[in-house]
Amino acid sequence: MRETQVRDAYDRPLRDLRISVTDRCNFRCVYCMPSEANICFMPREQLLSFEEIVRLAQQFAGLGTEKIRLTGGEPLLRKDLVQLVKMLYEIEGIKDIALTTNGVLLKRYAKDLYQAGVKRVNISLDALDDEVFTVMNGVGARSGQVLAGVDAALEAGMTVKVNMVVKKGMNASQILPMARFFKEKGIMLRYIEYMDVGSSNGWNMEDVVTNKEIRDMIHAEMPMEPADPAYFGEVASRYRYVGTDVEVGFISSVSEAFCSSCTRARLSADGQLYTCLFADKGLPLKPLLRSAASDEEIQGTLRAAWHKRDDRYSEERVSYYESGRQKKRIEMSYIGG
Ligand code: SAM
Ligand code: SF4
Ligand code: SF4
Repeated sequence: MRETQVRDAYDRPLRDLRISVTDRCNFRCVYCMPSEANICFMPREQLLSFEEIVRLAQQFAGLGTEKIRLTGGEPLLRKDLVQLVKMLYEIEGIKDIALTTNGVLLKRYAKDLYQAGVKRVNISLDALDDEVFTVMNGVGARSGQVLAGVDAALEAGMTVKVNMVVKKGMNASQILPMARFFKEKGIMLRYIEYMDVGSSNGWNMEDVVTNKEIRDMIHAEMPMEPADPAYFGEVASRYRYVGTDVEVGFISSVSEAFCSSCTRARLSADGQLYTCLFADKGLPLKPLLRSAASDEEIQGTLRAAWHKRDDRYSEERVSYYESGRQKKRIEMSYIGG
């Protein structure tokens, strides 16, 4: 049942729910789950069932959530994902179901996912050049495999955006080739600043190429003009290539934090609720789901968690590092990007 919209300690509404459906992945991206890191995946029996995910999503919808994004790990590795999408699509109040994927399995699933209700997909691709890309993804995947996923999503009717994380010394050489390619293709490319999520990637500020640097590089060759944000809380600042209707986006989580408009909650595959990508602990919802708790009680727990939310890590990052304080970090592949 739909209640009035819940707001957190900084008056931010709860609009989006990111559901991580698995922590496993077929890539080992250097900035997320590097091959050398000793990552322990959760045993399958710890995953929430589809019924449990849907029950939670219904309660989120009751609190004002309108958008769901399926993520991971690699969400397309979760068995029967299409079935989950169909179930989520039925929920009253959910207006949008999107997916974030590395794209290699998309060719197989795009059509069914679209028919089940996924109308938008973000596909991660960090380089066109295979020498660079294979180092970035750590498993020898080729950019052509991801581009086949992009084409399959477009053919299925999905709106496609491409995400590129830039890590200095690794794929910065691909900034312009990627911009040219996706401008030509008419697809929005979004540059994401390399973030200090988790601890396995050994993040260092010196490895970050700021979006200002990237914007300047692109603008020098392909002039851009600012485009209006599509909605409140949009994380990317959008630009349009002059004389075209092709947009390009910049997600500057490190250099220009956007916590004040962050409306996202995250659910891990084993049912922990996180109110920030950088939260050091989650709220375990599985015990509640597997108890005799009513829907109202579950919704009350979610409402209370959001109500007291005061996360704004990206705005506080500099002071964290300056003070030398240590922060426990949950891996991105676990919490869902
Ligand atoms: N496996 C899927 C994929 O890669 O699209 C979905 C999960 S992934 C964790 C979601 C997004 O987080 C991807 O676009 C990825 O590039 C981004 N990401 C992962 N680690 C990151 C980091 N350290 N800094 C910035 N973005 C990161
Ligand atoms: Fe896998 Fe996505 Fe993390 Fe890369 S960014 S390792 S594709 S979860
Ligand atoms: Fe949202 Fe936390 Fe990121 Fe700030 S740091 S934008 S609160 S997820």
